[in-house]
Amino acid sequence: MFFTKIPSLKKATEKKKIKIAQRPNYVYIPLINQNDENITRLVKKGDYIYKGQSVGRRKGNLRIPIPSSVSGTVVGFEEHTYLNGKKVKCVVIENDFKEKTERRLGVKKDLTKFTKEEFIERLQEMGIVGMGGTGFPTYVKYNTNKKIHTLIINAVECEPYITADFALLKEHVEEILEAIDAVMEICHIDETLIAVKKENTELIELLSNFVGTYLKMKIAPVSNRYPSGWEKGLVYQLKRVSYQVTSVERGIIVSNVSTMYAIYEALKYHAPLTERVVTFTGEMLKDPQNIQVKIGTKVSELIETIGGYHKGDDLYFVAGGPMMGKSLPDDDLVVSANLNCVLVLPKQKEQEATTCIRCGKCVEHCPAKLSPVLIARAKGDVKKLQKLQADRCIECGLCSYICPARINVREKVVEAKKLLEESSE
Ligand code: SF4
Ligand code: SF4
Repeated sequence: MFFTKIPSLKKATEKKKIKIAQRPNYVYIPLINQNDENITRLVKKGDYIYKGQSVGRRKGNLRIPIPSSVSGTVVGFEEHTYLNGKKVKCVVIENDFKEKTERRLGVKKDLTKFTKEEFIERLQEMGIVGMGGTGFPTYVKYNTNKKIHTLIINAVECEPYITADFALLKEHVEEILEAIDAVMEICHIDETLIAVKKENTELIELLSNFVGTYLKMKIAPVSNRYPSGWEKGLVYQLKRVSYQVTSVERGIIVSNVSTMYAIYEALKYHAPLTERVVTFTGEMLKDPQNIQVKIGTKVSELIETIGGYHKGDDLYFVAGGPMMGKSLPDDDLVVSANLNCVLVLPKQKEQEATTCIRCGKCVEHCPAKLSPVLIARAKGDVKKLQKLQADRCIECGLCSYICPARINVREKVVEAKKLLEESSE
């Protein structure tokens, strides 16, 4: 596996404790899961909503509810920016600050006392999705008859700036390990490897103090280079196993740290996924922080509560990290379950891209072993794109990062990938 050394840039938030956000007056729950807006809306204007009640549900095979993060009244529907940069319809709920729930939340003492069927049902009912960026419904991963021998917990956080999972592990390591132990027991998994960057000695030391009591769990240090947290690359580094579509086909499940914490809350407290930790960072923020926020909170309001922006340069916003994130024109973004970072940088004077000098660097550095330059040149020729396997792009951004001609190669490859996806529908 060919990974690339890039700067980590995590200093601004890596030592900071998680700050709990003020409760918002309104939340804007985006009616989308992954990039699928094919959602059945379950509420109308004027409805009273309990915290955790579903405001929508994804249709089709990947049915998953979308829970409200507050109790209160539905006051309307508005479009706001989602993680993918698009405007998406959101349910606007006026918070009554009562945190009322439909059911009394009983506490489960022993998390291993779920049958596999109850576990799957709980994950689905609580709206648990992949929080590392994918948003893929988690119950689907675990709902397999295939023997799962290995669970990999992805604590690598290989993109620069992001420290949300690191902060969560530091403050909730015992809960996360308890959830892993329960998942192993319920799904009859033989071993768990907790993947951490080799250079993150603080996390390795912390985990070493707790993992010892769980005999089937091991800390698995991985490459410091980017993108060592990419799922396929991780599975190959740790198990020397390759797969086509999902790691489940080879008896391996990969779950991210935040997702595992959401599983803990779902099993322990019957709590739907309504909050997450997001890293707010970048040179233009006065006080970068890891913040625990309610899903549906406006990013602009959250930034105000941590002191706002530095004056001077124009602002450049990214939803997600600098490599895989989506650049945005403004801060009209709402927090979704799969948003791990908001990055605010000074807007660079546009450096014009020059012509490709055919240096081959994008090919040399592509971890998916693609030819980004050729995909970019194929310009919509579906047959060529199929041959070049543009659909295998993991959108890591290395081709753009490495290109000396400053060509946004990733954007062109992602467009090609979308075209292939559409042409196969
Ligand atoms: S964005 Fe896609 S094409 Fe570019 S380096 Fe990453 S995987 Fe390769
Ligand atoms: S890295 Fe940039 S200049 Fe070099 S081959 Fe790829 S697109 Fe062309």
